[in-house]
Amino acid sequence: TLFSDLKLDPKVLKAVAEAGYTAPTPIQAEAIPHALEGRDVLGIAQTGTGKTASFTLPMITRLGRGRARARMPRSLVLAPTRELAAQVAENFDTYAKYTRLTKALLIGGVAFGEQDKLIDRGVDVLIATPGRLLDHFERGKLLLTGVEVMVVDEADRMLDMGFIPDIERIFNLTPFTRQTFFYSATMAPEIERITNMFLANPARVEI
Ligand code: AMP
Repeated sequence: TLFSDLKLDPKVLKAVAEAGYTAPTPIQAEAIPHALEGRDVLGIAQTGTGKTASFTLPMITRLGRGRARARMPRSLVLAPTRELAAQVAENFDTYAKYTRLTKALLIGGVAFGEQDKLIDRGVDVLIATPGRLLDHFERGKLLLTGVEVMVVDEADRMLDMGFIPDIERIFNLTPFTRQTFFYSATMAPEIERITNMFLANPARVEI
């Protein structure tokens, strides 16, 4: 498979070429066609497999088909730690550089002020840790009813850190009609339970 065989937004293909990627990794080659059909994706994969691009590239493609700027966030990516969330945000900036999509990184350990400003201005994509996202929600700063695409990254680490109740709560704040990407290195019973509850007939991609 070549990137150009995948029906990604030409702006995404340009950014990917500029990043020096020659071919999609196995998880990208498998997940992206399902994702572009609008299906939920259950990815069983470790870091280093290229899983971030496997959800970011189709997400940008989908958002690019809609309005360029949104009042409410249209996409939400949850990661277990600040560092991982920051990495996803960096990847997003790389792949979205030829689009007009905007993002906010919502992580703990920093003041609310800058994050509030971004939210008020209106961003397309939220990249967050679960605790900080719920902080913003409880402060009345955020509505998730416009979310079209939701990603849960590194769910097994979420489980280890006790975030599963937060994840369930956040799922329930988003529309049923959303597309969901869910990634975990392992499928513990608690992870299986969540995926059965919140994913609709997902394409299961195991690397
Ligand atoms: P990830 O598993 O998402 O953390 O990605 C691991 C690393 O692989 C990151 O540094 C990416 O920039 C890089 N990467 C992702 N997709 C590709 C690709 N198709 N070709 C070459 N490098 C890639």
